[in-house]
Amino acid sequence: MTYSVSPIGFVRSCFKEKFAIPRQPQLAPAARGVLELVAPFDQGDAVQGLEQVSHVWLLFLFHQALEDKPRLKVRPPRLGGNQSMGVFATRATHRPNGIGQSVVKLDKVEAQRLWISGIDLLDGTPILDIKPYVPYADNVPGATNAIASAAPVLIPVLWSDNARQQAHGHAQRLGEPLVELIEQCLAQDPRPAYQTPTPEREYGAQFWDLDVRWHYPAAGTIRVLEVIPAR
Ligand code: SAM
Repeated sequence: MTYSVSPIGFVRSCFKEKFAIPRQPQLAPAARGVLELVAPFDQGDAVQGLEQVSHVWLLFLFHQALEDKPRLKVRPPRLGGNQSMGVFATRATHRPNGIGQSVVKLDKVEAQRLWISGIDLLDGTPILDIKPYVPYADNVPGATNAIASAAPVLIPVLWSDNARQQAHGHAQRLGEPLVELIEQCLAQDPRPAYQTPTPEREYGAQFWDLDVRWHYPAAGTIRVLEVIPAR
């Protein structure tokens, strides 16, 4: 038996590629985006009342990780990418039906769009449904998860003078908390756990319309090298 679903909107996100997106929502409060609703949900009626809610659940499609053949086991990056685990024990992107869920902060409600932050969503992500976060039901005191027991350990993020200046300039142009966004995302160390980078090795990811490049001058430390317009 099959069912079909269709998006109620699409996200315009600060994240233009999968690399360096936090692994869960709320880990980078400066990660912002806009959920653009599509017809017939873009009239205002469908979001009426939502201004009374601080956070919403977004159900979405991992549209850049869809696969024909279902995987039963996955290798979560959180476990270093070398330990496999039942797909239903994880939040892996490669999963049956490719459905993701994230609690995000609702900053502003307009008839055609929702302004959201604390997101872990790629630009263009199709949204299937929106539900209000219900604190008394969704926050479970005493809940445990021994596989993912705590948020990632943060590492220090340093800046070259040049990169800091570039980031401040682009933050003003974009009207976005860009310095905070870069620091919050890089502090989670997006590098695959199995890689031991030399100080010469550079990494990069696109945030908004910018290429951000960084390296690891010493183990457990990141230094931002440049923040330049993406090519
Ligand atoms: N919070 C969601 C959940 O639990 O279902 C997502 C968790 S998943 C581990 C988070 C990762 O999904 C991000 O780090 C990003 O690389 C990836 N991602 C986000 N949006 C995506 C999309 N539309 N298609 C494919 N991968 C995506």
